[in-house]
Amino acid sequence: MTTQFCSHCGGALKDQTLNQRIRSVCAQCGRIAYPTECVAVSMIPYTVNDQVLLVRRAIHPGFGYWVIPGGYREVGEDLPEAALREMQEEVQLPFDRETLTFVGVYSYRGNPTTLVVYAMRVHWEQVSWGPECLEAALFPATNLPWRNIYFQSTRDALSQWIAAND
Ligand SMILES: [Zn+2]
Repeated sequence: MTTQFCSHCGGALKDQTLNQRIRSVCAQCGRIAYPTECVAVSMIPYTVNDQVLLVRRAIHPGFGYWVIPGGYREVGEDLPEAALREMQEEVQLPFDRETLTFVGVYSYRGNPTTLVVYAMRVHWEQVSWGPECLEAALFPATNLPWRNIYFQSTRDALSQWIAAND
Protein backbone atom coordinates (compact mmCIF):
# COMPACT_ATOMS: atom_id res chain seq x y z
CA MET A 1 0.00 0.00 0.00
CA THR A 2 1.30 3.45 -0.91
CA THR A 3 1.58 6.09 1.80
CA GLN A 4 -1.14 8.72 1.68
CA PHE A 5 -0.76 12.25 3.00
CA CYS A 6 -2.92 14.69 4.90
CA SER A 7 -4.58 17.25 2.61
CA HIS A 8 -4.32 19.83 5.41
CA CYS A 9 -0.65 19.63 6.50
CA GLY A 10 0.97 17.00 4.27
CA GLY A 11 1.71 14.65 7.20
CA ALA A 12 1.62 10.88 6.66
CA LEU A 13 -1.76 9.18 7.26
CA LYS A 14 -1.92 6.12 9.52
CA ASP A 15 -4.81 3.76 10.17
CA GLN A 16 -6.22 4.12 13.67
CA THR A 17 -9.33 2.67 15.33
CA LEU A 18 -11.69 5.39 16.54
CA ASN A 19 -15.17 4.56 17.85
CA GLN A 20 -14.80 1.02 16.48
CA ARG A 21 -14.12 2.22 12.93
CA ILE A 22 -10.77 2.21 11.18
CA ARG A 23 -9.95 5.79 10.22
CA SER A 24 -7.07 7.27 8.30
CA VAL A 25 -5.55 9.76 10.75
CA CYS A 26 -2.76 12.30 10.15
CA ALA A 27 0.25 11.46 12.34
CA GLN A 28 1.22 15.14 12.38
CA CYS A 29 -1.96 17.20 12.97
CA GLY A 30 -4.40 14.47 14.04
CA ARG A 31 -7.09 15.27 11.44
CA ILE A 32 -9.17 12.41 10.08
CA ALA A 33 -9.00 11.92 6.30
CA TYR A 34 -12.51 10.70 5.48
CA PRO A 35 -12.95 8.45 2.46
CA THR A 36 -14.05 10.27 -0.68
CA GLU A 37 -17.77 10.16 -1.32
CA CYS A 38 -19.22 10.98 -4.72
CA VAL A 39 -22.56 12.53 -5.56
CA ALA A 40 -24.04 11.65 -8.92
CA VAL A 41 -27.19 13.08 -10.45
CA SER A 42 -29.57 11.62 -13.02
CA MET A 43 -32.62 12.84 -14.88
CA ILE A 44 -35.72 10.87 -15.85
CA PRO A 45 -36.86 12.66 -19.02
CA TYR A 46 -40.51 11.88 -19.80
CA THR A 47 -42.96 13.00 -22.45
CA VAL A 48 -46.52 14.25 -22.15
CA ASN A 49 -47.83 10.81 -23.26
CA ASP A 50 -46.02 8.87 -20.46
CA GLN A 51 -42.98 7.74 -22.35
CA VAL A 52 -39.53 7.68 -20.78
CA LEU A 53 -36.39 8.70 -22.62
CA LEU A 54 -33.50 6.28 -22.17
CA VAL A 55 -30.03 6.47 -23.66
CA ARG A 56 -27.88 3.51 -24.63
CA ARG A 57 -24.37 3.78 -23.23
CA ALA A 58 -21.43 4.12 -25.63
CA ILE A 59 -18.99 3.88 -22.70
CA HIS A 60 -17.95 1.26 -20.17
CA PRO A 61 -19.18 0.08 -17.76
CA GLY A 62 -22.52 -0.99 -19.18
CA PHE A 63 -21.65 -0.46 -22.85
CA GLY A 64 -24.78 -1.10 -24.96
CA TYR A 65 -27.17 -1.02 -21.99
CA TRP A 66 -29.92 1.53 -21.42
CA VAL A 67 -29.72 4.17 -18.67
CA ILE A 68 -31.22 7.55 -17.85
CA PRO A 69 -28.90 10.50 -18.51
CA GLY A 70 -26.64 11.38 -15.58
CA GLY A 71 -23.16 11.84 -14.20
CA TYR A 72 -21.15 13.34 -11.39
CA ARG A 73 -22.06 16.63 -9.79
CA GLU A 74 -19.29 19.25 -10.08
CA VAL A 75 -18.12 20.58 -6.70
CA GLY A 76 -20.43 23.37 -5.56
CA GLU A 77 -23.01 22.79 -8.28
CA ASP A 78 -26.74 23.11 -7.57
CA LEU A 79 -28.14 19.55 -7.79
CA PRO A 80 -31.14 20.10 -10.11
CA GLU A 81 -28.94 22.22 -12.37
CA ALA A 82 -26.32 19.44 -12.37
CA ALA A 83 -28.97 16.91 -13.42
CA LEU A 84 -30.14 19.25 -16.19
CA ARG A 85 -26.55 19.84 -17.36
CA GLU A 86 -25.79 16.12 -17.44
CA MET A 87 -28.94 15.46 -19.46
CA GLN A 88 -28.06 18.17 -21.97
CA GLU A 89 -24.52 16.82 -22.33
CA GLU A 90 -25.93 13.45 -23.35
CA VAL A 91 -29.11 14.26 -25.25
CA GLN A 92 -30.35 17.50 -26.77
CA LEU A 93 -34.07 18.21 -27.14
CA PRO A 94 -36.58 20.82 -25.93
CA PHE A 95 -37.64 20.55 -22.26
CA ASP A 96 -39.94 22.27 -19.77
CA ARG A 97 -37.66 23.49 -16.96
CA GLU A 98 -40.61 24.31 -14.68
CA THR A 99 -41.62 20.61 -14.58
CA LEU A 100 -38.28 19.56 -13.02
CA THR A 101 -39.03 17.65 -9.80
CA PHE A 102 -37.11 15.63 -7.22
CA VAL A 103 -37.56 11.83 -7.41
CA GLY A 104 -35.27 10.30 -4.77
CA VAL A 105 -31.85 9.59 -3.30
CA TYR A 106 -30.24 6.18 -3.83
CA SER A 107 -27.29 4.73 -1.92
CA TYR A 108 -26.03 1.18 -1.51
CA ARG A 109 -23.83 -0.53 1.05
CA GLY A 110 -20.21 -0.61 -0.11
CA ASN A 111 -20.78 1.85 -2.96
CA PRO A 112 -19.22 5.33 -2.47
CA THR A 113 -21.65 7.02 -4.88
CA THR A 114 -24.88 8.62 -3.71
CA LEU A 115 -27.28 9.16 -6.61
CA VAL A 116 -29.84 11.98 -6.60
CA VAL A 117 -32.55 11.64 -9.25
CA TYR A 118 -34.85 14.22 -10.81
CA ALA A 119 -37.52 14.02 -13.49
CA MET A 120 -38.49 16.56 -16.14
CA ARG A 121 -40.85 16.74 -19.10
CA VAL A 122 -39.19 16.85 -22.50
CA HIS A 123 -40.37 17.07 -26.10
CA TRP A 124 -39.24 14.49 -28.63
CA GLU A 125 -38.34 17.00 -31.34
CA GLN A 126 -35.07 17.61 -33.16
CA VAL A 127 -33.44 15.04 -30.87
CA SER A 128 -29.70 14.57 -31.01
CA TRP A 129 -27.23 12.92 -28.69
CA GLY A 130 -23.56 13.15 -27.85
CA PRO A 131 -20.66 10.68 -28.04
CA GLU A 132 -21.52 9.08 -24.66
CA CYS A 133 -24.65 7.55 -26.23
CA LEU A 134 -25.15 5.00 -28.99
CA GLU A 135 -28.76 6.14 -29.30
CA ALA A 136 -31.65 7.72 -27.44
CA ALA A 137 -35.18 6.30 -27.55
CA LEU A 138 -38.60 6.58 -25.95
CA PHE A 139 -40.17 3.66 -24.09
CA PRO A 140 -43.68 3.45 -22.63
CA ALA A 141 -43.40 3.78 -18.84
CA THR A 142 -45.38 0.53 -18.61
CA ASN A 143 -42.93 -1.36 -20.82
CA LEU A 144 -39.33 -0.43 -20.04
CA PRO A 145 -36.49 -2.77 -21.13
CA TRP A 146 -35.78 -3.71 -17.49
CA ARG A 147 -33.32 -6.51 -18.21
CA ASN A 148 -31.22 -4.18 -20.35
CA ILE A 149 -31.18 -1.26 -17.92
CA TYR A 150 -27.72 -1.14 -16.43
CA PHE A 151 -27.58 0.33 -12.94
CA GLN A 152 -29.49 -0.95 -9.90
CA SER A 153 -29.96 2.71 -8.89
CA THR A 154 -31.51 3.48 -12.31
CA ARG A 155 -33.94 0.56 -12.03
CA ASP A 156 -34.82 1.59 -8.45
CA ALA A 157 -35.37 5.24 -9.41
CA LEU A 158 -37.49 4.35 -12.45
CA SER A 159 -39.62 1.88 -10.43
CA GLN A 160 -40.21 4.46 -7.73
CA TRP A 161 -41.05 7.23 -10.22
CA ILE A 162 -43.45 4.98 -12.16
CA ALA A 163 -45.19 3.82 -8.97
CA ALA A 164 -45.56 7.44 -7.79
CA ASN A 165 -47.04 8.54 -11.13
CA ASP A 166 -49.38 5.61 -11.65
ZN1 LIG B 1 -2.29 16.75 8.96
